[in-house]
Amino acid sequence: MAIDRYPVTLDHEEVLVRRGRRSGLYTLVAVHSTALGPALGGCRMWHYDDSRSALRDALRLSRAMTFKSAVAGLALGGGKGVIMLGPRGAGKPPSRRDVLLDFADTVQALGGRYITAEDVGTSARDMQVIAQQTTHVSGLSRRRGGSGDPSPLTALGVQAAIAACCERVFGTPSLAGRSVCVSGLGHVGLRLAQGLARAGAAVTGTDIDPARREDLEAIGGRWVPPGRALTQAVDVFAPCALGGVLDHDSVPRLRAPIVAGAANNQLAGDDVGALLRARGVLWAPDFVANAGGIINIAVELEPEGYDARRARERVLGIGETMRAIFDDADAAGITPLEAAMRRARRRLDEAR
Ligand code: NAD
Repeated sequence: MAIDRYPVTLDHEEVLVRRGRRSGLYTLVAVHSTALGPALGGCRMWHYDDSRSALRDALRLSRAMTFKSAVAGLALGGGKGVIMLGPRGAGKPPSRRDVLLDFADTVQALGGRYITAEDVGTSARDMQVIAQQTTHVSGLSRRRGGSGDPSPLTALGVQAAIAACCERVFGTPSLAGRSVCVSGLGHVGLRLAQGLARAGAAVTGTDIDPARREDLEAIGGRWVPPGRALTQAVDVFAPCALGGVLDHDSVPRLRAPIVAGAANNQLAGDDVGALLRARGVLWAPDFVANAGGIINIAVELEPEGYDARRARERVLGIGETMRAIFDDADAAGITPLEAAMRRARRRLDEAR
């Protein structure tokens, strides 16, 4: 990933970096904005080569959360937590519980300006451990009155976004007979692949974890090697792994007319949005397409408590939001990214 070539905007309210007293690991929380409400964003537990990469992740992802919640119409700001595991294979790792409690201390130190949730590398069960040390945690299990695993709702929202893209490009939102390549068959990607297959799409997919092949084939999908996903001649390329997949090297190699997926920060830099448009590729802004998880969590934070049906209805609204963004983009002659950002900024300005 050539993501380090691209600058990171620093316009955050605060960034807290602490060394955990139990685990010795560094945990970070970046609060990008609390203009619309407390900054909500997942906790990413990941092996980073150096502290710069971990900080970059926290800064970029928290900023994206601000825009994600603003476009989704939620009363939430943007934040992100990072637990910085050392490079893979570097010594004996500390206990998971210690690491999570150390992260919880960092969350608690922010006094409610940041609310955590699960993300890559953490689960609803981890949120229960974090809840022992701080109340500023969401995404608890359904058994505990929480909204549970957000991934199925994220996948549902991405599918609604894909349908809106297909409507734009092919004149119908129907996914029957469409071909989609899902890159990253984790919590969201596999669910998405399942949903697409159920809707009649021909699904191909890949993952750096070869064990995922069996899961994909079980739902009738066709496996392609990880290095080939981007260049598949399909209707839709759906990035569902990590960020930075679209840059000045990869975009010219794309063969799909639509890119819509769950991965956060798909564009290595904002200027890649213009490159996609210039090459005639319709890109569904990631922070709009993948808002299902946060919309689901926002329902958990409402005074009435969590309700699965209400959450599902709201998440399906992502299709409508996406259509409105494409209309705005066409009307103003700008990219979908710019149109989505304008929407978000309008809401943030109103709140300020
Ligand atoms: P996950 O860890 O369950 O799945 C990610 C998968 O991608 C893993 O199976 C991993 O092996 C695979 N992968 C990593 N690098 C890859 C590569 N280069 N090529 C192919 N596969 C690769 O994570 P997830 O919860 O499914 O989230 C996926 C993406 O969606 C992330 O970017 C996440 O931030 C974003 N997202 C997730 C949610 C959610 O509800 N889980 C919500 C919003 C956004």
